[in-house]
Amino acid sequence: PAEEPPRADDTSLPDIPLGVPTAARMYDEALGGKDHFQVDRDANARLYKIIGEDRVRSTALENRRFLGRAVRHLAHECGIRQFLDVGSGLPSARNTHQIAQEVDPAAKVVYVDIDPIVAAHGKALLSRDGTRIVTADMREPETILDDPQVRELIDFSRPVAVLFVAVFHFVTPAEDPARIVAAFRGRQAPGSYVTISHLTSDGVPPEDIAGWEAGFAGATSPIVFRTEKEIQALFDGYEMVEPGLVRPHTWHPDDDGAPRTTSLFGGVGRLPA
Ligand code: SAM
Repeated sequence: PAEEPPRADDTSLPDIPLGVPTAARMYDEALGGKDHFQVDRDANARLYKIIGEDRVRSTALENRRFLGRAVRHLAHECGIRQFLDVGSGLPSARNTHQIAQEVDPAAKVVYVDIDPIVAAHGKALLSRDGTRIVTADMREPETILDDPQVRELIDFSRPVAVLFVAVFHFVTPAEDPARIVAAFRGRQAPGSYVTISHLTSDGVPPEDIAGWEAGFAGATSPIVFRTEKEIQALFDGYEMVEPGLVRPHTWHPDDDGAPRTTSLFGGVGRLPA
């Protein structure tokens, strides 16, 4: 039987920063989840006051719906059976393994997140053999690529989709996002994929960017906006899958109720043979 997930206010959880807002818990709150603390609610309340609650929640949901459509497309249309979901966030209603394993119950999914609460809450979901959760920092890509649980499930000699959905905006220019993608790309077999979504500064008034930055001030990581051009550069070495890098709600849209914002860009790239 599935183990009960720990309660969000269970202070016995190891290594969970309780006094500092974290991106995983703030995002969970914005999506209407239940795995967050007062500090996270307070941080989001500040963000909502500056940016507008509807806009922040719509941005989170537009992103989450994009993740779902991208995973489904990769599994269903592209035949991908291995997923490495980096910066996966807290388990939500429709997670990568549920979508991928709907297409093929034998699909393998490894979730990776820097926030230990993700593994603590995820355990209960992962009763299936083909799914694992690893606590690691993508800024040290080799620790992920060489992790025993990753190696056990993912066969890098076959195509694998690496997902970086709404996570690169927690990586500063000094931490060199291109180096991180290149490390994963270097291990991927031809015919593998990358999926990236990212908050964009294009068309966003400077005061809004300052507002987001203020909302994340004091959180475990700062937030970094990038232009469409900078986000496109993260796909270097990959061929863009149609329709390219776009507003996530326009990427293979279906009737999933994705809100339409101008906060993000998202896309999928394929590593050519
Ligand atoms: N990918 C999920 C989605 O799009 O629905 C969750 C996105 S959430 C906005 C960003 C996640 O990235 C958080 O769970 C956060 O803990 C994680 N994260 C931030 N920096 C990270 C890092 N350096 N390594 C791994 N995960 C990181």
